[in-house]
Amino acid sequence: MQYVTLLGATGSIGRSTLDVLSQHPDHYRVFALTAHQRIEALVPLCAQYRPVFVVVATDYQAEWLRNQGVDCSILVGSDGLCQVAGDARTDVVMAAIVGAAGLAPTLAAIRAGKKVLLANKEALVMAGALFMADVQRYGATLLPVDSEHNALFQCLPQPGDSLDVQGVERLVLTASGGPFRLTPHADLANVTPEQAVRHPRWSMGPKISVDSATLMNKGLELIEACWLFRATEDQVEICIHPQSIIHSMVQYRDGSTLAQMGCPDMRTPIAVALAWPERIRSGVPSLDLLQCGPLEFSAPDYERFPCLDLARQAMRAGGTAPAILNAANEIAVAAFLQNETSFLQIPVIISQTLAQVAGSSADSLEAVLDADDRARSYALRLLSVCRVNH
Ligand code: NAD
Ligand code: MG
Repeated sequence: MQYVTLLGATGSIGRSTLDVLSQHPDHYRVFALTAHQRIEALVPLCAQYRPVFVVVATDYQAEWLRNQGVDCSILVGSDGLCQVAGDARTDVVMAAIVGAAGLAPTLAAIRAGKKVLLANKEALVMAGALFMADVQRYGATLLPVDSEHNALFQCLPQPGDSLDVQGVERLVLTASGGPFRLTPHADLANVTPEQAVRHPRWSMGPKISVDSATLMNKGLELIEACWLFRATEDQVEICIHPQSIIHSMVQYRDGSTLAQMGCPDMRTPIAVALAWPERIRSGVPSLDLLQCGPLEFSAPDYERFPCLDLARQAMRAGGTAPAILNAANEIAVAAFLQNETSFLQIPVIISQTLAQVAGSSADSLEAVLDADDRARSYALRLLSVCRVNH
């Protein structure tokens, strides 16, 4: 029996994870569930999964849950998240909080030597060097849940070894292209949050949906791939593949290309990571290639989607630059979702923040959090200047 802590239980990845877990009640039990907003969703989850702990954001939420008859131990805030992530009684931690808020608890799980299933790509983008060093140091097992990285993981013979030793020339991340793949640049100025979150292939939380629309999601994934597979930025190629059937590819020096294919459903990569190196049912049917229709591939448009290049720049700059990129993006996306800035302003805010906020080495959590903090303040100031000028 494996005990699972689910950070971000009420989100899109959280719900898909619970779906997979509930298909294998003899192998997995829920140890802790956490949520930040929409706490009411925790009430039926607690009744169904009977966790030892739940973690919420505020004392008020904890009180509210107790009044609903939730009778497990209730913890609050980041300390509570770190406590359940590192608890000796948990074997597996699913890191499915969105954004920088997931960094501390995910690191706590790594430092407790857990098996960590990583969906929260922002945490790795912010603190890649620290993260990977701590995985080694504390003997943790880090398994990618992001569908592209899970695909690469499946296509690599020894995912922990250097690409050179494995005979790999290039990693190819596929991207659906998002809802604005064919939208002319001039029309992008007026797109709304509602249009941006309507993803053609995947059903996801609002932040990652906007990231998919700007292609910053692929930029963050490029950085994620560099850390997970010890690749340099120029070893990672991006290919638009609107059908989302091939989830990514590895190209070897002998001319072979290995691709991982499947229906676009996150329960597959979640099940792969959960049971690795075994294979379990996920509830996702096998692919029917006869029903897929033609598979298309094209190069991304770096002019219409400047976020891709900003991510490449940040990875090349190194140090805290990816943390600054991520923080500016989180601020800009939140503002866009609130109708406080336009879609085309998102890359402008990120690019100016990257240019103006001083980077440093990223060898401690303090340095990363300090860069994150300064980038957020700067991006917020830019937003208020934009509002004044409107
Ligand atoms: P979501 O918005 O649906 O869910 C986010 C979860 O995190 C919720 O449970 C929420 O309560 C919690 N949360 C939000 N802010 C928090 C905070 N400040 N402190 C603690 N908890 C907080 O997001 P999602 O789509 O499930 O994505 C989760 C992560 O997985 C993101 O990093 C995303 O990039 C990554 N991911 C998602 C998908 C997908 O298909 N949804 C695919 C690949 C990677
Ligand atoms: Mg992905």
